[in-house]
Amino acid sequence: MRIAVYPGSFDPITNGHLDIIERAAQLYDEVVVGVAENIRKSPLFSLKDRIRFAGNALAHLKNVRIESFNCLLVEFARRHDAHSIIKGLRAVSDFEHEFQMAQLNRKLDPSIETMFMMASPEYVYLSSSAVKEIAEYGGCLEGLVPPEVEEGLQKSFSR
Ligand code: ADP
Repeated sequence: MRIAVYPGSFDPITNGHLDIIERAAQLYDEVVVGVAENIRKSPLFSLKDRIRFAGNALAHLKNVRIESFNCLLVEFARRHDAHSIIKGLRAVSDFEHEFQMAQLNRKLDPSIETMFMMASPEYVYLSSSAVKEIAEYGGCLEGLVPPEVEEGLQKSFSR
């Protein structure tokens, strides 16, 4: 079985994340989406909401599972028998940080390979922080996030 983990904070999941996961699901027998429990910046959405949004948006992919994690990424990968960590790259600015993380993870466990997938052109400018900012100021989120996430964002900013 070729198993990969795809980690992130997914606060919230965007169509850019979904594009990477859908493409990874064609390359691997199983993709485990790892939703980070503790993220440094305080998240807008609870862990439960972040998992629910991801689960509903990915329900059509039978070889994709959503799990939360609160440990080293290589440990999370080992627990799921994964030998690949998938990372999405949008711009050169993503590269520097991801390159460092990949080297560190290789040092921690040389049997786990980080695989980079380039963002599709239509999602290169998309990030979770950008969609939160657009929602905060009442901008249009169509095509950027799944409908349930759009509703969730509108609710959180209408309070
Ligand atoms: P963000 O960087 O949007 O806050 P995460 O921390 O949840 O999101 O990122 C999880 C992974 O998804 C990272 O590998 C990140 O580079 C990747 N990613 C985020 N947005 C996109 C996108 N629009 N296209 C491709 N990959 C993306």
